Amino acid sequence: MLVWEEEVRTLSKTATLGAAPSLQRDELQVPPSPSAPRATPAAAAATSPVHHRVVAADKRIINGKTDVNQLVPFKYKWAWEKYLATCSNHWMPQEINMSRDIATWKDPNGLSDDERRIIKRNLGFFVTADSLAANNIVLGTYRHITAPECRQFLLRQAFEEAIHTHAYQYIVESLGLDESEIFNAYNEVKSIRDKDEFLIPFINAIMDPNFVTGTPEADQKLLKSLIVFACLMEGLFFYVGFTQILSLGRQNKMTGAAEQYQYILRDESMHCNFGIDLINTIKLENPQLWTPSFKAEIKSLFEHAVELEYRYAEDTMPRGVLGLNASMFKGYLRYIANRRATQIGLEALYPNEENPFPWMSEMIDLKKERNFFETRVIEYQTGGALSWD
Ligand code: FE
Repeated sequence: MLVWEEEVRTLSKTATLGAAPSLQRDELQVPPSPSAPRATPAAAAATSPVHHRVVAADKRIINGKTDVNQLVPFKYKWAWEKYLATCSNHWMPQEINMSRDIATWKDPNGLSDDERRIIKRNLGFFVTADSLAANNIVLGTYRHITAPECRQFLLRQAFEEAIHTHAYQYIVESLGLDESEIFNAYNEVKSIRDKDEFLIPFINAIMDPNFVTGTPEADQKLLKSLIVFACLMEGLFFYVGFTQILSLGRQNKMTGAAEQYQYILRDESMHCNFGIDLINTIKLENPQLWTPSFKAEIKSLFEHAVELEYRYAEDTMPRGVLGLNASMFKGYLRYIANRRATQIGLEALYPNEENPFPWMSEMIDLKKERNFFETRVIEYQTGGALSWD
């Protein structure tokens, strides 16, 4: 009851600003309670005649009580800087010339059957993956995040997810692939379906209209969903596919698709890094959520995700192709999982794993992403093509 009364007082303060009470109620994540007293305008005036300006120190990533419509004063500068960086990385799929890829795809000797399988499996996973990511942000994550700087990044991220879905659709259309085969792969190809079924419960949990944060259990549920999306979806489930298509590009095959993937990889790395900063800031503000049992649960989710992505690698590469084979990915996925785990303050799950694809580190080094971005941004802004030597 005390908590509710405090929230009524906060509502009353915002009501004096002339904000729509229904919006404020929603933003504050107050559960509907028919037995609770309603704040009337008169009561508002009686309890709090003066509104208080937003103070940066009062902002919180989750369960914040400051006005989410006021971006400034900034508290989370890292979020704003990442928002600016993503905007300067802007690109559109149709700017990339696909004519060489079309010729290669149509040439019976242009690609091996195994290379064609990789391309179709890749698109089969990615054409729906970014829709899942977008829906997770727009219908799930966004309303639970109470820092406007972070919401600003999420708005940009949501648009980038749309650009990525557009890019995959554009490749499918350019190559004249069977659209129903590719877009139904997420239901029909087991290695893809298993990855999506791993993810979907974490989207549904926070999309549920009855889900609100504010209890340790609910806050952990949100944090778990954020970790699954940043570290395991954008940070792990994308990497077999990215490595495969970038390998094609390095061999001067399907360079248009590879260029699209390279821009997507740059965006996704930023999404992943933002998500990790978000997670770490929530941990700092809510240290009580990071319990031994919660950490153990996260560790087992990491192990499950590595296993699912490895099975996807095996399914997409039944034989060695492009100088790659599935077993090389076992080490690579463990290397990436270690990196993601330590980035959020967990111990490495698989100590002493080395990166079997050092050239991927040059494309997008997990430790040197900033350098990569700076190079790519300049190339994009001057209209230069990516090179694959
Ligand atoms: Fe993303």
